[in-house]
Amino acid sequence: MDAGECSSSQPCASSSPDAAGGVWAKLVPSDSAFPEVELAEDDAVVCSRVTPDGGGEVAAWCEIRRGGGDGDASSATIRNLSSDAIIVDGRVIQQEAVDIKPGSEIVSGPQKDGHLLYTFDITGLNDQDKTNIKIVLDIENAKCSICLNLWHDVVTVAPCLHNFCNGCFSEWLRRSSANSRDKSQSAACPQCRTAVQSVGRNHFLHNIEEAILQAFSSLQRSDEEIALLESYASVKTNIVLGKQKIQSRKRRLPRSNDEANHTNHADFLCPQCGAEFGGFRCSPGAPHLPCNGCGGMMPARPDTSIPQKCLGCDRAFCGAYWCSQGVNSSQHNPICDQETFKMISQRHISSVPDTVHGGNQYEKDITERCIQQSGKALQAIISEWIVKFDNKELDRSRLQLNHVDAITSRTYVCNQCYSKFIDFLLYWFRVSMPRNLLPPDAANRESCWYGFMCRTQHHRPDHAKKLNHVCRPTRGNP
Ligand SMILES: [Zn+2]
Ligand SMILES: [Zn+2]
Ligand SMILES: [Zn+2]
Ligand SMILES: [Zn+2]
Ligand SMILES: [Zn+2]
Ligand SMILES: [Zn+2]
Repeated sequence: MDAGECSSSQPCASSSPDAAGGVWAKLVPSDSAFPEVELAEDDAVVCSRVTPDGGGEVAAWCEIRRGGGDGDASSATIRNLSSDAIIVDGRVIQQEAVDIKPGSEIVSGPQKDGHLLYTFDITGLNDQDKTNIKIVLDIENAKCSICLNLWHDVVTVAPCLHNFCNGCFSEWLRRSSANSRDKSQSAACPQCRTAVQSVGRNHFLHNIEEAILQAFSSLQRSDEEIALLESYASVKTNIVLGKQKIQSRKRRLPRSNDEANHTNHADFLCPQCGAEFGGFRCSPGAPHLPCNGCGGMMPARPDTSIPQKCLGCDRAFCGAYWCSQGVNSSQHNPICDQETFKMISQRHISSVPDTVHGGNQYEKDITERCIQQSGKALQAIISEWIVKFDNKELDRSRLQLNHVDAITSRTYVCNQCYSKFIDFLLYWFRVSMPRNLLPPDAANRESCWYGFMCRTQHHRPDHAKKLNHVCRPTRGNP
C-alpha cells in the first residue's frame, strides 16, 4: 500500500516499491472494515492521513523496527512518532522504543475507546499461515566443513550432496587441481572424497542460510571475510545433477625442478591414500580432513597422539601430523612444513609481531624498548609469561582464541593462533610493567579512556602517540 492511498485516519506503512512482497509483519485491525497494515521495510514508518475532509496531509504515526533489542527475529520495537500518545499492551507510550511481540496490542490513540486497536503479527512465524512450516534444524548441519562457519552462498556437490561455501569449495578445487597430476581425474569432495561429478549453487539451502543469519546475527562474518570468500567464489550455475563433469583445471602452478622424483603417491592429495606411512594406510572412503595451510588432505585420526586440529581456531592443519607419520614435504606435495603447526612450548619467537597491541605501532615500539631495557631476549620474556599462563595467573578473557580454558603451553596451535597468543602475553607484560620502568616518553602518557578498544588509535597517529592504549577501557566507544 502506498502512503498516498490511505483514507481518512487509516494507518498505512510507508514502503518503497522494491520492498513490496517482502512483508515481514502486519498490523491486523480489530475491526475488519479497516485494512491490514503490511510492514515491508526493516524500519517501517506507519502513517495515517490526518484529515478533516479527505484531503489532509499524511502524518507519521509510529515506527516499527524489525528485531527486538537483542536482534531476536520474533520480536520488534515500536516508537510513537505522533503528537498524541498511543497505547501498547495497555501502556501509554511516547517517544521511547518499546518491545512488541506477535499478539501485542497497539491502540492508535490515547484512549482505548474511540481508537482502532491493532494486533501486531510477524508473518512467517504465524502458525495460521499455512504456506509456512517450521523446520527444526541443528545449525551444526548448516556449516561448511572447510571453514567451519555457517555456509555463505552455499554450493552442493553431487553425487554425495555435501554442502560448502561457494568460496571455500572454489578455492579448494583450485588448489587440488593445481596439485593434481592427472588432469582427467575428477576432483574429490573435501568432506568424503567421493569423486565430484557436478557442483552448483543451492538456492533452497541459501534461503535457510539467510534465515539462520536473521535469527542468529552473531554468526555473521565480518565484511572483510565475506569479501575474501566472494573473491574466491567461482561456482556460478545452479546445481544440475549428473550433467557436467568437474575436471581438474588445466592450469597448473609452476612446479619446482624434480618432476621425475615424484612417485605415483603424488597423484593422491593424501599421501596415506596412496601408500603406507607410519604403519597406516587409508582405507577406501575413510574420512579426511582438508588442511587449512596447504589444501592437502590427511586422514581424520582420532587415535593419534598428534593433534590435527588447532585448538585455538578449530581448523585442521597437517604440519604436525605428517611429521609424526614420517612423511616429509620434499617427497609429497602438498603438505605443510612442521613449523606451521606446533606446540606452544616448542615454538621460538625472535621478534615482536606487528599485530601486537591491536597493530598500534607506537605501543609496539614501546614494548620493544621495554624488552631491550630488561636485557632479556624476547623468547626469555615469553617463556616467563607462559609459566604464569600455565599457572592460571592471567585473566584469559582477552585471549582471542577458542577453548581458552583448555589451552596450555603443550597445546598445538597454528601460526595465526600463536601470534594471537603472543599478543595476549605481551599485553600482560606491558600492563603489569610499573610506570617508572617504562621509557621516559611513555611513562608520562595518560591512558586513553577507551583503552585497547579505542578505534581512534588506528587512524589518528597523534592520538595513538599521545595516549597509552595498553590498558583496559574505562568507558565504551562513542
Ligand atoms: Zn566455508
Ligand atoms: Zn562428499
Ligand atoms: Zn588418505
Ligand atoms: Zn589456529
Ligand atoms: Zn597442510
Ligand atoms: Zn584512544
